[in-house]
Order: sequence, then C-alpha cells, then structure tokens
Amino acid sequence: MIEVVVWNEYRHERLEEAVRNIYPDGIHGCIKSFLDVDEELNVTLASLDDECQGLPDELLNKTDVLLWWGHIAHHEVSDELVEKIRQRVYAGKMGLIVLHSGHHSKVFKSVVGTTGNLSWGRDQKEVVWNLYPTHPIAKGIPEHFIIDIEELYCEPFYIPQPDAVVFGSWYEDGFIFRSGVCFERGLGKVFYFQPGHEYCRSFYNEYVQKIITNAVHWAVPTEVGYSVPDGAPMVNFKVTDEFNS
Ligand code: ZN
Repeated sequence: MIEVVVWNEYRHERLEEAVRNIYPDGIHGCIKSFLDVDEELNVTLASLDDECQGLPDELLNKTDVLLWWGHIAHHEVSDELVEKIRQRVYAGKMGLIVLHSGHHSKVFKSVVGTTGNLSWGRDQKEVVWNLYPTHPIAKGIPEHFIIDIEELYCEPFYIPQPDAVVFGSWYEDGFIFRSGVCFERGLGKVFYFQPGHEYCRSFYNEYVQKIITNAVHWAVPTEVGYSVPDGAPMVNFKVTDEFNS
C-alpha cells in the first residue's frame, strides 16, 4: 500500500459557509474521497489545527506521498515541520504534491527554492492543456479539458525552471499559466497543480481527480539501489582501484 497523507489548512471551510457548502467534509475530505477509490492507496487526513499541526513524526515518517493545500495560514506552519518535510523529500523518502494556493506555502518555497510568486484575478473559465501526453501524470487525460470556473493564476510564475511542464492553462481573459509542473529535488519528486480554489468545485472535476491520482503514483519514492547517507559522504576509494584493474 502507498501511504498518502492529505494535509489541508482547513480554515476556510470552518469560517465560511460558502466554502463549507462546496466542501462539507473539507477540501481534504473531498480529495480523500476520490483517492480512496484507488485500492493501492491508504489515505490519511491531516490539518493545521490537529496535534503537531497534523503531522506527528510517527505519521510523517511513514508517509510516501504528502499532498498540501493551504492559503490563509501559511505563516502558522512551524519552520521545524517545514524543514522535516523538506529533508524527507530531498532524501527520497516522500513525494510532495502542492495544490493551488499552496504555491505560497513555506513547504513549497522551501522545497523548490523560490518565492512561488504569481499574479491572480477573477474567477473564470480555464482550459487546461495537456502539454506532455506521454508523462505518467497525463495518463488518461485528453488534449485539453475545461474547468467552468476557477481562480485566475497567471505568468510570470516565479518558480525554478521545472523538470517537466505537464499542463498549461489558458483563461478566458487571455492569461496563461504553467498549471502542472514537476520538480526533482534531491531524490524526491514534487508536483505543483493549479486548480483548487476554495470557492470553486474543481476537486469534483473528473480530470482534476485523475491528474492528482496519477501524481500520487508518480511521486512515490523510487527505491535507490544503495544506501544514501544523510550528509555528504567521505570519498575514500581511488578511481584507479575501482575502474582500472
Ligand atoms: Zn484560491
């Protein structure tokens, strides 16, 4: 089984009726409901106001893939927890999927290494284009699909050059955005995906669900064929001995 944790800040749903009406079990509850259909996944929910901000060591240390949604309380997430997550990703022990407004989370900024800044605007129609149809995250996704209403996010998006741009979006006001991007950090895999504004129903979209499910499988750590030390290893063999005999 793949151990998946869906972490949600879980504030909008409790503070605002309009959001609660869309996601009565929380955004994380909605995400869990479609991931649970996949029998290879064991999905646990976590949120900011839970004990240890939702990620006590015993849970974090068995998590294969962490999904992250946050917006209004990024600053409340402890630096210590962020650093634990970053180290676990870099060590190749856990994949990370960051959703929507998580682009400004400490976790995303710490793991990818830039501000994650972007511009945004009114909710509107979004066309998500499949730019990399052979990528595992794009499996089963058509050439494009339409989200009737989603928050506008647009370029420039201040991220490092991604290792793969899997999806690109066009919005009806004419803006474009790299809406599905992959990064490799150390031995870990990271996917950022734009849809998922709290006032929109994007997590009910069948293709959004399929992309997130595909991303979970893609982000599962790859087994490395030798032990990887935490720090920089001492190089104590001679090339001549190893290769010239
Ligand atoms: Zn939003």
